Parts: sequence; C-alpha cells; structure tokens
Amino acid sequence: MMCYDCTEEGRTDTVGIGICARCGLFTCRDHAQIVREQVEQFTGLARPAGRPSVRRAVCTTCRVAETTH
Ligand SMILES: [Zn+2]
Ligand SMILES: [Zn+2]
Repeated sequence: MMCYDCTEEGRTDTVGIGICARCGLFTCRDHAQIVREQVEQFTGLARPAGRPSVRRAVCTTCRVAETTH
C-alpha cells in the first residue's frame, strides 16, 4: 500500500509502515509518528508500577491537529 501523504506529494519511493490510528489512512515512516499511550486499567486502588503502554502510528497531519491548540 502507498502512503496517502506521499501520493499527495507525488512520491513513490517510500515504504508504508501502517495505518494512522486517527484517520485510518495508510502512512509511511516519513509521515507518521509512533506514539505511546498508557492503557488505563482501573482495577481498584492498586496501580501496578509498570503499567502497559500501547504503540500507535499517527500520521503527521493528525499529530499536528492533536498537538496544536
Ligand atoms: Zn509518506
Ligand atoms: Zn491521520
């Protein structure tokens, strides 16, 4: 699959790495950022120290939209 942003720029030499968790478009290493998010697990009062985090690919368009206020 082709990265959506690359097709917009007319590039064909990039390798897609995954799908943006926000917009669902396929994206490449140049146009995506890997973000880590904590998985909220409330199982009573005890919070384990090493809570698991998940990895998500987010395209730069969505990332900018999320971080610009
Ligand atoms: Zn790209
Ligand atoms: Zn996106």
